[in-house]
Amino acid sequence: MLAAFVLSAASVAMLGATHYYSSIKVDNAAREHAERVVANGLEQFADEIGKSSVDQTYWDEAVLYGSNRIDPKWVSDAFGRVFWEIDGFEGSILFDHRDAAVFASARGHDEAPNHYSQVIRAAKPLIASIRDRERKRGRVDVSKLVRGSQLEPITAHAIIRDEDAIFFLGASLVQPDSKAVPADRPASILVILERMDKTVTDQIGGRFLLNRPQLRLGSNPPAMGGGQAVIRDPLGRQIAAFEFDTPMPGTQLSHRLWPALALFALALLAATAWIIRAGRAMAGSLVASEARATHLAFHDQLTGLPNRARLNEGFAQLASSARRTGKQFAVMCIDLDLFKAVNDNFGHLAGDELIRLVASTIQRNCRPDDFLARIGGDEFILLQSDSSVSRASALAERVIAAIAEPVELKVGRAFIGASIGLVIVDGSPIDAQEALRRADLAMYAAKQAGRNGYAFFKPSFDRAVRHRMTMQTHLHDALASGELELVYQPQVDFAGTVIGVEALARWDSAALGRVPPAAFVQVAEETGLIDALGMFTIRRAFEDSGRWPDLRVAINVSAVQLRTGDFVDRLNALAAEVGIDPRRFELEITERVLLGDDPATVAGLNRLRALGFRIVLDDFGTGYSSLGYLQRYPIDKVKIDRTFVARVGIEPQAEAVVVAIVRLAKALGMEVLAEGVETEAQRVCLNVAGCSDVQGYLTGKPVAASEIDALIAGRSPNAQDGGDVGEDRLSA
Ligand code: C2E
Ligand code: CA
Repeated sequence: MLAAFVLSAASVAMLGATHYYSSIKVDNAAREHAERVVANGLEQFADEIGKSSVDQTYWDEAVLYGSNRIDPKWVSDAFGRVFWEIDGFEGSILFDHRDAAVFASARGHDEAPNHYSQVIRAAKPLIASIRDRERKRGRVDVSKLVRGSQLEPITAHAIIRDEDAIFFLGASLVQPDSKAVPADRPASILVILERMDKTVTDQIGGRFLLNRPQLRLGSNPPAMGGGQAVIRDPLGRQIAAFEFDTPMPGTQLSHRLWPALALFALALLAATAWIIRAGRAMAGSLVASEARATHLAFHDQLTGLPNRARLNEGFAQLASSARRTGKQFAVMCIDLDLFKAVNDNFGHLAGDELIRLVASTIQRNCRPDDFLARIGGDEFILLQSDSSVSRASALAERVIAAIAEPVELKVGRAFIGASIGLVIVDGSPIDAQEALRRADLAMYAAKQAGRNGYAFFKPSFDRAVRHRMTMQTHLHDALASGELELVYQPQVDFAGTVIGVEALARWDSAALGRVPPAAFVQVAEETGLIDALGMFTIRRAFEDSGRWPDLRVAINVSAVQLRTGDFVDRLNALAAEVGIDPRRFELEITERVLLGDDPATVAGLNRLRALGFRIVLDDFGTGYSSLGYLQRYPIDKVKIDRTFVARVGIEPQAEAVVVAIVRLAKALGMEVLAEGVETEAQRVCLNVAGCSDVQGYLTGKPVAASEIDALIAGRSPNAQDGGDVGEDRLSA
């Protein structure tokens, strides 16, 4: 910026300097020209005077009366008065053939011949030059003369100094113009004087348009800026100078140009200033846009909070200050519960609004030196500086309580919650990635322990993760090697008659031992193996169903699997391949499937139903249980969850709820079945509440297909050894 300014200032200065320099050059050239012209002019002036004298000397009478002999009367008239009266020349001197002054006239009056003694002396070179040319001319042969033409006038001129006066001298040789025969000796020479007085200088000045012309005697250099025509005597000595004010066109032009130039300079400087400002502004906006880009790169657009990239920096800062001060800090992974439901039910705008509100809610509960980042859809990381287990717990509790408050969105009220995983970082070296991984694991633990809670990271979480990873590998192999089996749990009616079975997967792993389905189903869902597991179960259940043509067969379908695009088509193809009647099959889905009102899910369920499959809502009463689901979705049957059943007979409200569910389901044309029925008391209560179909250990544990065969045949072949899970019995 400064450089640009200096550059343009330098340009202005250079322009000014160039302008000044050229105006001086122009002035000098003009002065030199004027000086030359004036010098020539002075010469010419002197020459003219010389030539003026020729009128009187180139004449027969002049030969007869002014040269061959000197007639004083004639000389006085023709060589004296006439010049004063007609031409205004100051005086004249006549030199005879010996170069002696024989006559002088001053201002029209005859004077003594040596009146101009100084001039006479100074005129010697002039006289000599005329004599020289007279000699070269030679004798005059008058017989050849025709008046006015033949003889070359012989003249000379000079400027001389006489004391304080400068004179122009014009000299001419007396010569005949016709018949007068000159004496046989040198002729007379007439010298006319003109004093260079003010009249003459003014006259010269007027002729050459000079300002303030003046004569200065001596050989001083000219005054500053003035022009000077040097005047030399015939011997070449500087005797005076004709001075004048030179025209100085450069200066004049420059004076005229200066305002324009100044304006131009101002404009240039202003333009530079403007360019600099614009440049600054541009640079400023560049910086700003770079800052914006940087901000965007490191901040979440929705909340303006730092994002994952920036989080690493925040972590590094806290870690280094923790190392310096020896204080601990906490890493909290905050994950919203039920956020997806809000997003799906109310739309993305409401979801965005909710996230913004949650962000500011969390921020309100933090101290300024805590660090909050948003690293995913509904996932925040909070770094609590100067932390401890108790401080982190207190903060987690505050945040959970604040988030659990109903949120007023533009579209309505929303209820969400938060699960928080915590890691306390002390002096031990742990990088951000590892700390976040641990906080994330702790958050999952908190979620699994029930929502709206927090959990500190424990090394066992790591083991659980490692265990899950091992399980994934083994499950993959198990699906291929046939390690997985299906068992079936009977469903009975009021009379104890088996009306159906629920297919349940069993995995007796050679490496891991018996793995609970809840565990491997979750791993399968998390690792993408659920599709293979699901198709295995369905195929096997389809195949086994042929053994019990009168029973309905219930198959659990994972929400994850149901959402895979072509599930319905593949199920349909498989049904055709195995040759089953879909009407005998119940697909058990959980409320998780319905969360979010996904239109594709609803369409899928409708298609399944259209194919003949029955849709059963499993685990009803556990999750987010909304009776509204029953109305909105194509559901044929509701399974009351065993956590409810367990409370029946103990809590009066549980029974009231069961009654309500049964009434509503039946009113909507749905069947109801209670699962996890373990006692006769429960069964009686359920019966009273209107739910007579049950499934549970009371009426039969999950058993191998062969045992269902026996059951139907009215006997239980493994009754003694407990079969698959033992204790199989029927209440009927
Ligand atoms: P679920 O669908 O709710 O299945 C019922 C679970 O309750 C079964 O556990 C069953 O053994 C257990 N159960 C039955 N009667 C009683 C009772 O009277 N008392 C108690 N305490 N439990 C009873 P299981 O077999 O361990 O299955 C757990 C979950 O794993 C199932 O819950 C189901 O959601 C899932 N699952 C099992 N097999 C499959 C499968 O093949 N595919 C899918 N997608 N999920 C499966
Ligand atoms: Ca089930």
